[in-house]
This record gives sequence, structure tokens and C-alpha cells, in this order.
Amino acid sequence: MSAEPHHHRPSAPSWSTHADEALSRRGSRASAARNAVLAALDSQACCASAQEIHARITTDGTAIGIASVYRTLELLHGLALITRVDTGDGVARYEPAHPNGEHHHHLVCNACGAVEAFHDGELEAAIHAVADRVDFRVDAHDIALRGACRRCR
Ligand SMILES: [Zn+2]
Ligand SMILES: [Zn+2]
Repeated sequence: MSAEPHHHRPSAPSWSTHADEALSRRGSRASAARNAVLAALDSQACCASAQEIHARITTDGTAIGIASVYRTLELLHGLALITRVDTGDGVARYEPAHPNGEHHHHLVCNACGAVEAFHDGELEAAIHAVADRVDFRVDAHDIALRGACRRCR
């Protein structure tokens, strides 16, 4: 987990508003579970598993089954509203896919499993340069650097 500062433009709608509208356009009806999962995803700084999201939702006594969390995540992933992060331990973790392209990448520790977010402007520029050179329209990219975190070295 990391405390990356987030630069949200004040006028831009939140990711959850965007996701809620996209789901409704697809005919999916709002529910308490759906609202809770969207709110949880909106407030997380990096990726989280279904179990972590479920734990956070139910910590205040909210009664929502984990099956509803899995269903909502599947729906969101099918519509590309969230991205799945593979951290190598077989547990799928998810984070919002922002419509404005705002994103980060991940440092994954092979020893303790810690996942940390990082941003790098030069890396983004390099990806654009590669796309130009190979004449490919890049819609998305996933980058995870795997190794050992500070504590595990
Ligand atoms: Zn992340
Ligand atoms: Zn990137």
C-alpha cells in the first residue's frame, strides 16, 4: 500500500459516478452491494482483493455477502471499469480504471507480497515513443516491477 498523492481535478466526476453511469447504461440496476463496492474502490489508493474489499465494506456491520462483491467486480471488469492486477500470488486484485487515463504502476515484493504504487512520466513517454515506432495504437498498458522491497532485502 502507498500514500501516493492523487491529483483529482475538482470539476471531474469521481470514478464511482462514472462507473455507476456506465453500469446503468448497460441495464444493471443499482443495489446496496453495488454502491458499497463502488465506494470502496473509489476510496482505495491501490489495488485490493475481493476479500479485502468485502472486509472493508462489512467492518461497520453492513451486511453484504462476498458473492455480491465478486459479482460486482466481474461486472466492472467486463466493462473495463476496473483493472485486474496480478501480483503473482494467485489472488486477483482490482483498482479503478479512470476514464481520463490517470493510472499508476506497481512494485511487487516476491518475498512478502507487498504491492506499492509508482508513477513515472519518463516511462509513460517511452511507451508512447514505442507505440509510434511500431505503429500500434496502445489503449492500455500494465507494468509490474517484481523483486524485493526495502524490508525484505
Ligand atoms: Zn495500484
Ligand atoms: Zn503507465
